[in-house]
Amino acid sequence: MPTGCNNKTFINHTYANFFECDAEINAILNKNSINLQNCTIFVSLYPCSETAKIIIQSGIKEVVYLPDPKSYKEPATKKMFDASGVEIREHTPNENIKIDFFHHAKLDRPVADLSGGNLFMAIAYLTSKRSKDPVCQVGACIVNSDNKIVGTGYNGMPTGCNDDEFPWGKSSKSNKFIYVCHAEMNAVFYKSSMINVKDCTLYTTRFPCIECGKIIIQSGIKDVVYLKNPKNGKEEDRATKEMFNASGVKLYEHEQNLVITLDFA
Ligand SMILES: [Zn+2]
Repeated sequence: MPTGCNNKTFINHTYANFFECDAEINAILNKNSINLQNCTIFVSLYPCSETAKIIIQSGIKEVVYLPDPKSYKEPATKKMFDASGVEIREHTPNENIKIDFFHHAKLDRPVADLSGGNLFMAIAYLTSKRSKDPVCQVGACIVNSDNKIVGTGYNGMPTGCNDDEFPWGKSSKSNKFIYVCHAEMNAVFYKSSMINVKDCTLYTTRFPCIECGKIIIQSGIKDVVYLKNPKNGKEEDRATKEMFNASGVKLYEHEQNLVITLDFA
């Protein structure tokens, strides 16, 4: 429903679908960067002609959609996209993704139950899966006070240093620690352009190390939510906690007991 129109009130309206904002509209209007020129939009359904118009006018140049044999493919959408030079392609996932936080899940709920920070932690977790680190994949997701995502990151080599060429080992000859940028750092620096992360919340799948702790403090982030892990509690963690305490950054442990299966079929 549009901002200000309570979901619960409007959903029962006789003409509820008159009020509903399509996912594409929300993604386009809640954007974080200055413009969407040449951006790609990922959607879980083939766009209708109304959203196709908005996509074209926003400057988006590519649409990637999930195939659904039950959904109707509006021919006008393709006709307009072709005329306007917007590419549209089908995304065929070759695997289902199971988000199983530490394998100690007790509940199996539908994705719709992603409340109380679970969504943002799940996004941090999914983002971690892009890391090429063979031992430790970490993801982070920054959210502003309107609960809008303003940045994500995973541990990887610095920009320009190819993840496939730089070392991921721990020996003196192949030492990843010299090169790798942590997820929290990347989330802070790869935030959407022109966005200030002051007073934002950072979700991370691992307790922040002392170096990332410094970046978090200096960036103005005010809350850090980390995924509960029996490995937390090292000496270094205490130093991070000490700094956060002194700087007024609040720390919250997120206990994840959901298993979320992204079943694209
Ligand atoms: Zn770190």
